Amino acid sequence: MATLSLEACHAEIARLRLELSARTLDIAETQSVLSHQKQTFVRALTLARMGVWECTLPENRLEWSDGVYDIFGLPRGARLERNDIAGHYKPASLIELERLRSAAIAEGTGFSFDAEIVTRMGDHRWIRITATAETEAGSVRRIFGTKQDITDEKIAVDHIRYLAAHDVMTGLANRSTFQERLAMLDRREDGLCLLLIDLDGFKLLNDTFGHAVGDDCLKETAQRLEGLVQDRSLVARIGGDEFAVIIEQKSEAHAVRRLAQKIVDDLRRTITIGEASVEIGASVGLAFGDGSGPERLVKNADVALYAAKAGGRNQFRVFAPPESEALGKRRKTG
Ligand code: GH3
Ligand code: MG
Repeated sequence: MATLSLEACHAEIARLRLELSARTLDIAETQSVLSHQKQTFVRALTLARMGVWECTLPENRLEWSDGVYDIFGLPRGARLERNDIAGHYKPASLIELERLRSAAIAEGTGFSFDAEIVTRMGDHRWIRITATAETEAGSVRRIFGTKQDITDEKIAVDHIRYLAAHDVMTGLANRSTFQERLAMLDRREDGLCLLLIDLDGFKLLNDTFGHAVGDDCLKETAQRLEGLVQDRSLVARIGGDEFAVIIEQKSEAHAVRRLAQKIVDDLRRTITIGEASVEIGASVGLAFGDGSGPERLVKNADVALYAAKAGGRNQFRVFAPPESEALGKRRKTG
């Protein structure tokens, strides 16, 4: 076996030292680049109102980036206790979050979930949580992901949804909500009724008092209608001066007739708008569901409404199927 001279040994040691210090420099440089990139990443996340979180299992040790502390309104770097953090979630969100988390841990998967929280200052916020479970030797050792403040997005989306479903002037459900609700319900034969309400002489009111007063009358009409119907009924504005009430629950025919009369009476009451006292009234058409579909129900209520208008307005009429009218006539003449 060849032996190295003492000089050669020294030279080799010096070479290795040089190589080691070069590598140490490389590592330090890489570490500095990585730490810079991490800082940039975390800053970018924080700017996007987002942060990174991780929870080490089984001890449930939580770690957050600054962005998550900011979302919860907690001092950056404060000690995190899972139970304390759970207290920031609204109960319904917490229940769903725990269910998703347990499933992700059990199956080694992940989830995405929008949760409602209350910050340390008492503000309500919506956050989007993403989570991924990391498996090591067959069991989940870590669950991690992002949390993002989506409050503004949620408000905007809710507002768009509201606009799509409501009449902006009165705040009632709009025509498309009315049609959707009818389509969902009408197949159930029993219990469903529809009232169509159209203001009488509304064009003249607009001409006499102006459009703005007309608008105020529509708002007042909407409020009065809402005050008259039960919770499980839908009140909608389905046209200019036309409103509809869908009664979903099984109601006695005489109770619904009573409601139709109340609507006529209540809409006849004087409306005071500023200096003006406005007299308005309404005609009402009522039809009971017979399982033949939403279009038929609307047509029937419309026929009844037309009859109320033709009968002199300010009154309600109930749709009578042609055969029952014929039967009635036969009874009278028979
Ligand atoms: P009828 O007694 O037969 O019901 O007739 P009417 O004068 O009430 O008029 P009709 O129901 O045929 O038409 C409704 C009118 O409502 C037409 C339009 O001038 C008015 N209108 C529709 N939308 C609005 C609105 O948003 N604001 C106001 N102020 N008026 C409206
Ligand atoms: Mg009208």
